[in-house]
Amino acid sequence: MVEFLIRKCAQIARYVPGKSVEEVKRRYGLKKVIKLASNENPYGPSPRAVEAFRSYSDLHIYPDPEYRELREKIAEYTGWSYDRIVVAAGVDGILETLFRLLVDEGDEIVIPTPTFPYYHILTRLHCGREVLVKRSDDGYRVDESIFDAISGKTKLVIICSPNNPTGNVESAKLVRELAESTGGVVFLDEAYVEFADRSIDVDADNVIVARTFSKAFGLANLRIGYALLPEWLVELFKAASTPFPISTPAERAAIAALEDIEWMFGCVEKIRAERERIYRELQRFVEVNPSQANFLFFKSPIENLAEELMKRGVIVRDCSNFVGCDRHIRVSIGKPEENDMFLDALKEVLG
Ligand code: PMP
Repeated sequence: MVEFLIRKCAQIARYVPGKSVEEVKRRYGLKKVIKLASNENPYGPSPRAVEAFRSYSDLHIYPDPEYRELREKIAEYTGWSYDRIVVAAGVDGILETLFRLLVDEGDEIVIPTPTFPYYHILTRLHCGREVLVKRSDDGYRVDESIFDAISGKTKLVIICSPNNPTGNVESAKLVRELAESTGGVVFLDEAYVEFADRSIDVDADNVIVARTFSKAFGLANLRIGYALLPEWLVELFKAASTPFPISTPAERAAIAALEDIEWMFGCVEKIRAERERIYRELQRFVEVNPSQANFLFFKSPIENLAEELMKRGVIVRDCSNFVGCDRHIRVSIGKPEENDMFLDALKEVLG
């Protein structure tokens, strides 16, 4: 019955979300549990963003469908052209609209692995064909082999920089050469760019750059993403998008967050310092990949590390079901005391 109802391409494995803090407390009878699994900003958003969100009360009125004020602020922050900026419910929303607009059955989507799982899910849902490219053995770079994966059927090439879950960045040269090599579109996901030493600045007619307020700005719950599109795509994107992807309280919060940019920079500084500290500590136990994001990625020497850490009150991301991973773990950088709790638990299990 259910199989008859569900589209052929939508009959995909169900997403298994990680365990919540409450669930882990209950299951292991723990008083204190921390979650370092979703790459959130542990300091939260600017208090001014929270205040802007709270003080909006015209909830019976639809948002401004053009999101003018927010797009103007994003243009100021990024230096991008206002007319080419679109917003959506997170980078997830940007991706959903793009897939809806661009991907037909059998179209090829080039995906270097391991990477953010939602790219795989969207490709399958749209009956696209995944062309998986293995990253390099030295630091998970996207190497030259990606050019062999490009064909006349390539619709999208997805480059995530810094990459989730590996944390490394790619080069502008790679993105430029990919854009020149494909008749499709290069999608550059810079969800974690604020934590990196560099962003990728390539302006070509077939490159899209997407970013978010979910990570460095600490507004994951409000679902605010944005992208720089080539000019020819802007109106098509708006037509294919859900009409009001962001609520006005969320828009106001994002604007306030951009007006208090020092808060975000302050969080990033603390998180980067902790990232380097945890990186050095982790190196004593495991081979850990240098990271330009707010998380670290390593291969566990034992089978069930994520569960062992959970028993000790630390939830990390078990990446064993990511395409191209096996016993890999991704841990988000939290506050210093949370990171210490993670390190103590790790030492107890592996030490
Ligand atoms: N891209 C990457 C690489 C991510 O890791 C995530 C979130 N985990 C997203 C996009 C989605 O972000 P958003 O909250 O903006 O939808």
